[in-house]
Amino acid sequence: MDRRDLIRGACGLAALAVPGWRRGLLAQQETLPFGLTGQPVQGGALRGLAPLGTHQLTLDGKAVPIAGDGTFLIAFDRDAAPKAELAAAAADHLLASSVIAVSPRAWRIEHVPVHLRPPAVPSADFAQRRAAELAQIRAARAAGHSSDGWRQAMIWPAVGRLSGRFGAQRVYNGTPGAYHSGTDIATGTAGTPFVAPADGVVTLAAEAAFSLEGRLLMLDHGMGLNSAFLHCAELAVRAGEAVRQGQVIGRIGATGRATGPHLHWSMMWRDSRLDAELFVPPMPQPSKG
Ligand SMILES: [Zn+2]
Repeated sequence: MDRRDLIRGACGLAALAVPGWRRGLLAQQETLPFGLTGQPVQGGALRGLAPLGTHQLTLDGKAVPIAGDGTFLIAFDRDAAPKAELAAAAADHLLASSVIAVSPRAWRIEHVPVHLRPPAVPSADFAQRRAAELAQIRAARAAGHSSDGWRQAMIWPAVGRLSGRFGAQRVYNGTPGAYHSGTDIATGTAGTPFVAPADGVVTLAAEAAFSLEGRLLMLDHGMGLNSAFLHCAELAVRAGEAVRQGQVIGRIGATGRATGPHLHWSMMWRDSRLDAELFVPPMPQPSKG
């Protein structure tokens, strides 16, 4: 019997003091093997509860971590295939499997009648600097801190105009450019504070501005889910610090490659790029006057 069985054995499935979404999961547990809640769409995430006795959980054959209470998170890349298979296995046999239909999204695609400019050949200095920056970003994503931020209903890091949507892409005379990997929040002026959308551990706080991202802050929300905040004017936290949802973690700016002050917020679950807008309620309308 593992720790999860002990916990569930001790309090049963009608445990007290479980968060609302998990109560929902428990109620569904008898009819659905994984009690999934959330949006099975490209760029979205689902939470679930592994069947009792699960030894290994996999999504399309890749192992998915399970929290101590049996809950887990899975998410789907911007370009995820229409079907994903979730399977739970005991030590020697399959317990449950489920094919999840992942709804496609209508990404904003703009066709422009110009050729995609070939990237300029970078100088050796730049190439070296960029490689070091990318290595820091990779290391931050691989950190794997324990945080319960992934369980929370997220809040907007800042209130402003959505000036760029996740997934938007330009196609230059038939050649697709890179899609927009985050949600841009424009507040009009630099220096507006922004907050942590959920609890997390700071995995990168680049005080020396990166060439594209500028001052970059990355948070690990646990279970492979992370946030990145680009173009910051100022960072209010340091690497290794645990932050709480709503805590001011920096100020919005235009450092790195940015045309004006805005917060670019991107989210990933492992290698999948996610749409942060799906994790928060609709953006509040700015107050007039
Ligand atoms: Zn952006």
